[in-house]
Amino acid sequence: MSTLLVTGGAGFIGGNFVLRSLERDPELRVVNLDLLTYAGNLDTLAPVLQDERHEFVHGDIADAPLVQRLLREFRPDAIVNFAAESHVDRSIDGPAAFVQTNIVGTLNLLQSALEYWRELPAEQGAAFRFLHVSTDEVYGSLGEEGSFRETTPYAPNSPYAASKAGSDHLVRAFHHTYGLPVLTTNCSNNYGPYQFPEKLIPLVILNALALQPLPVYGDGLQVRDWLHVHDHVDAIATVLRGGRCGEVYNVGGRAERTNLQVVRAICAALDARVPDSGFGDRTQLIEHVTDRPGHDRRYAIDCSKLSTELGWNPSVDFETGLAQTVDWYLENTRWVERVRDGSYQGERLGLAGAE
Ligand code: NAD
Repeated sequence: MSTLLVTGGAGFIGGNFVLRSLERDPELRVVNLDLLTYAGNLDTLAPVLQDERHEFVHGDIADAPLVQRLLREFRPDAIVNFAAESHVDRSIDGPAAFVQTNIVGTLNLLQSALEYWRELPAEQGAAFRFLHVSTDEVYGSLGEEGSFRETTPYAPNSPYAASKAGSDHLVRAFHHTYGLPVLTTNCSNNYGPYQFPEKLIPLVILNALALQPLPVYGDGLQVRDWLHVHDHVDAIATVLRGGRCGEVYNVGGRAERTNLQVVRAICAALDARVPDSGFGDRTQLIEHVTDRPGHDRRYAIDCSKLSTELGWNPSVDFETGLAQTVDWYLENTRWVERVRDGSYQGERLGLAGAE
């Protein structure tokens, strides 16, 4: 049986990673360390909370004694670091929390991992990996042409992106300086089940369903490269298995869309599924609001390294994945309601597995 220490596994991508990994590998044990900030949701983990292969630990990646105890106790074969403050708008209002978790927290994980890795027997030490999950936002903004490669210079524009860039540099430095066997993935915008409804796609789905205004920043022509979260999770598993230590792998969906295109596609999907005869076309709900300060214009990922070296390619077509995501939010009303009324936070400490 192999053991992964996953951080941030009650969040959107980490949660999908934990569920999918445990479902696919009966020989896997996951130790899931999550602080349960507003973005952490134990409801997402409901299918595995009673599974003895899943150990949920409520705690902070910046807590050195805790991380060291988990490493000594569970002796993981790898660490996969999803834990982060992840919402750009929140980073504009309060960057300090982003520096604390994304930089200080990652530094603590790296220091604890280094100490642990140095004491592992040679064979286990050779197989150990520290995989750091990061974003394409570290590369800044693109013009009309081109895409981010692993060699693109960093130019983070938001406090969120800057904090992720800081963590990426620390990960790189721990490999270069100490030889820690690290891997970094830089991924484009994700969508799919269990995403917190502050992010564009779930926000628009839920507002459009309730016939509420659909806020679109500025002209809505900002371009993002969308990737289904299951493809991202599979890319991470692929890099963990076969990635070369010290290397960076870009992960993208080859699905560039403007924000307006995304919002219109969601409206069309909902109009087809939940027609409201008295209202008509939901695109009427679109409201252009003042643009986010420093808003990056275009992101696009060149994921050819991951494709040629490790054979990973995005498999979910964007329009199909978006329609499935709309269906997921329509079907999982309990998950949605508990997020919206805040009750997903109320009972967290009473749930089995939580400390
Ligand atoms: P999320 O905000 O949904 O989840 C983050 C999780 O981390 C939450 O469960 C939260 O409780 C936990 N957490 C926060 N601070 C913590 C701390 N100090 N200690 C332990 N746990 C803590 O984020 P997400 O969208 O799932 O993103 C996961 C990772 O992937 C992040 O590192 C993010 O930068 C990266 N990423 C996200 C996207 C995207 O589109 N969402 C794209 C590329 C990369």
